[in-house]
Amino acid sequence: MARSPAHRYLAAMSEADPIRVPRQRKPDWIRVKAPTSAGFAETKRLMRSLNLATVCEEAACPNIGECWTKKHATVMILGDTCTRACAFCNVRTGMPRPVDPLEPEHVATAAAELGLSHIVVTSVDRDDLPDGGARQFVRVIEALRRTTPSTTIEILTPDFRNKPESAVEAIVAARPDVYNHNLETVPRLYPTIRPGARYYASLRLLESVKRQDPTIFTKSGLMVGLGEERLEVHQVMDDMRSADVDFLTMGQYLQPTPRHARVEEFVTPAAFSAYAAIARAKGFLLVAASPLTRSSYHAGDDFAKMKAAREAKPGIGR
Ligand code: SF4
Repeated sequence: MARSPAHRYLAAMSEADPIRVPRQRKPDWIRVKAPTSAGFAETKRLMRSLNLATVCEEAACPNIGECWTKKHATVMILGDTCTRACAFCNVRTGMPRPVDPLEPEHVATAAAELGLSHIVVTSVDRDDLPDGGARQFVRVIEALRRTTPSTTIEILTPDFRNKPESAVEAIVAARPDVYNHNLETVPRLYPTIRPGARYYASLRLLESVKRQDPTIFTKSGLMVGLGEERLEVHQVMDDMRSADVDFLTMGQYLQPTPRHARVEEFVTPAAFSAYAAIARAKGFLLVAASPLTRSSYHAGDDFAKMKAAREAKPGIGR
């Protein structure tokens, strides 16, 4: 049957629609169970009632069923809208709303109600704020110390690129237990995967946190499967060690929607073990590397392991 120009146009548009690009088939080692537990529902209810965003949901993390069942959630402060548009990240991009002055108390309430011994707090990028949102990280740390003083605090921050050095200095002075900033990928892939960031600026941030306060644990993460070469990953490990990073996390990149960067490779569990062995040999205090490892996956247990590893190594700042 002959089709009109309008039909042909609509058919071409629907073929071009990225939503229709088939999702890549995941190997068996990536599959996770759907979240259905009572603990999951309770964590969700609390986050909603306190008006808190989580990276678990916004980043479509595959571990959400397991983590939320155990009432482990990674809170995302400074709103749910990011000023950058990284090719791997599912968080929405746009003009964020003003900073919520009640957010620090809400984070502290969530930590208390969930009974967290360790909390991970991250944020969207806020290039629109003069300090990149550093002051809100400080307020959250202060609120947590007041409300749940025994909870250890891990922060996962943006790069504070083009912000005054005092922004990061203020966070370091508030003394989180762990300062995490992810390098995410190898420098060659920054222009396509993390175009708003600069590899060496991120590395310098990690180095400067450690220089300012050697007692704070530093941590950084890499996604693999984006087209990086093995030797490039080894070089990133060396760069992290030269910035004295304590803890390396490595996990498989998963494409959150067909509009995001493609998975170039599913890295096998055996290859993750090989990466972990090399990283340990390079001197990290702790390495977590597996297909489903994420920055905040098992963060509380890993914090305890990292502390024990430092205590077993004489002469490291404590
Ligand atoms: S791994 Fe981290 S981001 Fe993913 S569900 Fe667990 S706590 Fe949330």
